[in-house]
Amino acid sequence: MAVRVVILGGTSDGRQLAERLALDPRWAPLLSFAGRTESLKVPRAPFRVGGFGGAEGLARFLEAERCAALIDATHPFAAQISANAVRAAELTGTPFVRVECPAWQREPGDDWTHVARMSDAAEALGRVPRRVFLSVGRLEVGAFRAAPWHSYLIRAVDDFLPDLLQARVLAQRGPFDVEAELDLLARERIEVLVSKNAGTVATAAKLIAARRMRLPVIMVARPVLPPAPTVTSFEAALAWLTLLHTGSPALRGV
Ligand code: NAP
Repeated sequence: MAVRVVILGGTSDGRQLAERLALDPRWAPLLSFAGRTESLKVPRAPFRVGGFGGAEGLARFLEAERCAALIDATHPFAAQISANAVRAAELTGTPFVRVECPAWQREPGDDWTHVARMSDAAEALGRVPRRVFLSVGRLEVGAFRAAPWHSYLIRAVDDFLPDLLQARVLAQRGPFDVEAELDLLARERIEVLVSKNAGTVATAAKLIAARRMRLPVIMVARPVLPPAPTVTSFEAALAWLTLLHTGSPALRGV
């Protein structure tokens, strides 16, 4: 009987893990999306869309699905669902692991300012008008209403009407390559970048481009998540699952 694995997604790690498991008859993966993006990229694996109703709702879902392993492969900034996942795993006794890629680290040639929150990033842009490249989510753009004298180029998965005086949206989904990022930053005459410290390979090219162009970057730190067993790649999550499957007779099938 295939082993039910619920994967909380929203990242390429989650997608790759679900798609890899879907190819193997030992596993019955279910990839979960929040449903935030209008242009959902449909995975080659079973999936569902929408919230669970908090940690308790997720716990009920895991029970109903007879879930044998829960994997949190959400974005490092998705703090609420990650906290819910830890709690739901505790409530149900479901084996649990978080997939979290390491944060980006400053390298020689980088001009980074570290800030704790998006509102601090808006403040760190300063009083002199600048051309800003914002690669932050749609919901975080509001923080920059506090600094309306800058001109913003916002890159987001979906197009939207930003509630900012001088702003344009570039609807694009990664991965991005360095040459294209160099071209974009030069063409748009960008003077400073604001980025969340996602740590993902797919979106790191802008930082390499900024380094080469000697552009400053305001880097927003990750939120602190509740402690949990963590691996740093979807391959490592696969290894964790395989060990769990072969090593634990307590796994429940579907
Ligand atoms: P969040 O603040 O941590 O979560 C808010 C609520 O959304 C959760 O309580 C949960 O609702 C629902 N939710 C979140 N992820 C879910 C999932 N994978 N499956 C089902 N429900 C989910 O999350 P967020 O920061 O808004 O991010 C939403 C999604 O976008 C995440 O899946 C994340 O991986 C992805 N994403 C986020 C970012 C980012 O910067 N935050 C960037 C790229 C992708 P209930 O309480 O009702 O269960």
